[in-house]
Amino acid sequence: MGLSFTKSFGEDDLHQSHKLLDRLDKITADSVHHFAKNFLSAETVPDFQDIQIETCNRCNNDCPFCPANRNNDTRKPRFMDEELFYSIIDQLYAMDYHGTISLFSNNEPLLDGRILKFVEYARKRLPNAVHYLYTNGILLNAEKFSALVKNLDVLIIDNYDDNFQLIPSVEKTLSTAPAPYDISSAKVVTGLAAYARLSDSECDVRVDLRKKNQRLSLLANNSPNRRDEQNKFRPTSPCIYPFKQMIVRPDGTTAKCCNDPLTDMVTGDLNTHTVREVWRGRAYQDFRKEIFFNGRKNLKGCEFCDTFGLAMYIPSLQTAAAEFKRLADEMTRRKNLGAIYIFDTTQQSKQLFIKFKVLGVNFDGLVNVRDEPCDENYPCADLQSVVAERAFMLIPTPHYADDIFDFLQAAGYQYRRDWLIYTYDIN
Ligand code: SF4
Repeated sequence: MGLSFTKSFGEDDLHQSHKLLDRLDKITADSVHHFAKNFLSAETVPDFQDIQIETCNRCNNDCPFCPANRNNDTRKPRFMDEELFYSIIDQLYAMDYHGTISLFSNNEPLLDGRILKFVEYARKRLPNAVHYLYTNGILLNAEKFSALVKNLDVLIIDNYDDNFQLIPSVEKTLSTAPAPYDISSAKVVTGLAAYARLSDSECDVRVDLRKKNQRLSLLANNSPNRRDEQNKFRPTSPCIYPFKQMIVRPDGTTAKCCNDPLTDMVTGDLNTHTVREVWRGRAYQDFRKEIFFNGRKNLKGCEFCDTFGLAMYIPSLQTAAAEFKRLADEMTRRKNLGAIYIFDTTQQSKQLFIKFKVLGVNFDGLVNVRDEPCDENYPCADLQSVVAERAFMLIPTPHYADDIFDFLQAAGYQYRRDWLIYTYDIN
């Protein structure tokens, strides 16, 4: 995959309409109940699938939407003890951890001078995990870039500039980067990129061109430029995060999720308990039960949370394919649906089409919403035919969902009744 550019959040605020939030809320309710009911009744709790280890808790940027921006940060500055860091990685090794791992959470990881050696150690100890990192790129240079891509599967550079220009450090770094990260051959990906790792051999480097002055998610009601907003959406669904993700702060405590930058709720302490003890411990289980049975309404920060799915969840392609196949098999069997399709004819969808095929998921085709010519490599059908065929459909991102829902609803289809759409970053 090499290097790609996206304008993830485009020109507008990511201030979703209540209509779309309501739909995402309903999808999430179905997905979480489906996923978490076994989880709660299991003798032993399944391990998390994403872990973020924040080795320092500072950022050097001043984005107005972020409570961790350098002008707003109320956290006590802290760097993680090395002994604790190595102990966590070694425990993950002993667990044969193969989910996703990132050595950052609500911070800028390059502010920690030890980050390159930490990333290298994590890679060596956890060869089967998917290693990813987000950076704002301010401290990036050629040397750090090559050390990172050597040890990561996915590097996301959040390049903040109101005119969508590369900031000087990112431009300088990428202008001297070797193939396949050569800036002149970078692909431009429109819309949100799929989060699955598309290449097994090289690091996927994605530069997200993002405006700094935007209103984004509420971040557990902590976002500085949305804190005073009236008429906030109140979700009714439970949330998938406590079942899939562990967040470790530099002092060794664990937080409820990556959308809780100021740690409203502590779920455990890795100074006194092992990773598994914390994950299976009382605080986490109480939190899970509360959110599963009563939704978000009684939990500080969660009550207005406009986050659905697990946006930063970057499954390995194998995991994504296996999850999709299981769900597609179940739905096609239960509902007697005829075929499975992947939405849209973008390069991203085509890559998924091929990669999933290698992994045993045979899509019948791509959904052609752009009037593109179909060919034998990528058979396609228009949305009307796919619906008429009552096909099961993979939509690689929920942000397509609004238009599609309108169409499906007009055609008499209901997501919750027919299970026609699976957005694989909501799972
Ligand atoms: S509802 Fe929001 S704040 Fe609460 S755990 Fe989920 S993502 Fe985090």
